[in-house]
Amino acid sequence: MQIIERLRAAFQSGVTAPLQFRLTQLKSLLSLLEDNEPQILEALQKDLAKPKFEAVLSEIDMVVNDLCYTINSLPTWIQPSYVGKNLATKLDDCFVRREPLGVVLIIGAWNYPLQLILAPLIGAIAAGNCAILKPSEISRATERLLAQLIPKYLSQECFAVICGGAEETKSLLENRFDHIFYTGSQAVARSILQAAAVHLTPVTLELGGKCPCLIYGRLDMLAAAKRLVWSKFFNAGQSCVAPDYVLCTPEMREELLPAIAKALSIFYGSQPKQSEDFSRIVTDRHWDRLMALLGKTQGRVVMGGEGSKEDKYFAPTVVVDLDGSDALMQEEIFGPIMPILTIESLEQGITFINQREKPLALYVFSDESQVVNMVLERTSSGGFCSNDGIVHMTLPGLPFGGVGASGMGSYHGRWTFETFSHRRGCMLRGWGLERISMLRYPPYTESNLSWLRWATSAKKKSWGVCSVIELLHFFFAVIYLYTYTEYISI
Ligand code: NAD
Repeated sequence: MQIIERLRAAFQSGVTAPLQFRLTQLKSLLSLLEDNEPQILEALQKDLAKPKFEAVLSEIDMVVNDLCYTINSLPTWIQPSYVGKNLATKLDDCFVRREPLGVVLIIGAWNYPLQLILAPLIGAIAAGNCAILKPSEISRATERLLAQLIPKYLSQECFAVICGGAEETKSLLENRFDHIFYTGSQAVARSILQAAAVHLTPVTLELGGKCPCLIYGRLDMLAAAKRLVWSKFFNAGQSCVAPDYVLCTPEMREELLPAIAKALSIFYGSQPKQSEDFSRIVTDRHWDRLMALLGKTQGRVVMGGEGSKEDKYFAPTVVVDLDGSDALMQEEIFGPIMPILTIESLEQGITFINQREKPLALYVFSDESQVVNMVLERTSSGGFCSNDGIVHMTLPGLPFGGVGASGMGSYHGRWTFETFSHRRGCMLRGWGLERISMLRYPPYTESNLSWLRWATSAKKKSWGVCSVIELLHFFFAVIYLYTYTEYISI
């Protein structure tokens, strides 16, 4: 493919390597966001009826913050990190160098169509790569805007946008890339991995799954309901980290339901359909999937449940009286339906979570720190947040990514830079301490082996009899080396 060849030639020319080039491109990306905020908001409104408030927070500002953090930190990040040495390498330079991978492919999903392309791109640029961007064809307005703006702001030799859906992505994947960064569903991720395997291309998979929210013990129920409702119905539930389902005791559920109803009415009024603060479902097809899913539940719909396909509105919906075998519990909901399941104990809640695939995020709401710590200790998930939903992903200092079926690899802040860097372990050796170097050569002897083991061993941390022996050993070794070493040059 011609575009890939063009980018590869640019990468091989070394143009992306200097820090100055990377910083200039990152600053241009910042200008893209600053100069075009109205157009971006308009595109997101067209694609998902995304309220300005949500679009600014989750698409524009998240990327801007990550960009500023990266621009400020990059001069430090690209410095080699020096590592600890043993006696045999004492005179050598031993360090880790972060090097660009080459031409990388970034494939985005439609629910945060701008952020999911630009946030990985920050790290790809910072690490000195060329990149092909493949936004989701489903969020068409944002896809077109990206295709129009990226060439205006970034080097056309090094960065390109390719539009299209499954077929275009499949033919793109026939080419060799140096890294593939994919955000989307688990089903498609399998075909991405298969395509990557042909070229042994490393991949990052940012996937989804069912994120549980466990509510247990003492807490302010209205405050908890507000945070739960906000994080669940933000972007109409179309967030990979949205709480997918709630687990609580039957007694807590009786308190939680009126608190949810109150939070919904405070946020979206008595007619959420009229609210400008509630997004729409991305396409008719996705709306049909959600309605069909709701139709299959054995549970009881206690709030919402209605919608209108013509404007892709799907009411904030709460379902109770269902169990783990219900249709709503078989796949990621990815829409504004919140099932609430009951548990008899915290132990049962933890077991319920651990019997399923590892989620992308796990939430626990409780004022009791032992409850929070117990859930943290006894479960595994991509990310974890207590007493809130979604917000852990907004801090660039925290790695964001899945574990197990929810994905592999992570990004945000320094982690994106690391994802798109090769950590090259380097040892620049001199000719000193030849007496130690010589110990490895045949003819092998027991005495050389024991000296070599000592000179290359990682020293024990604890101070005890063993360390006194080691000190003596070290003392005699120094005398030995000074007496017999021919090339010593300390
Ligand atoms: P999707 O898998 O349908 O599409 C994602 C991308 O893959 C698009 O660019 C699309 O063009 C491409 N694609 C679609 N079919 C393909 C195929 N057969 N071969 C190759 N490429 C193909 O995903 P989606 O519906 O756009 O996104 C929803 C999923 O993404 C949810 O599971 C959600 O949880 C997950 N997600 C995860 C994150 C995260 O950061 N972990 C963020 C957003 C969404």
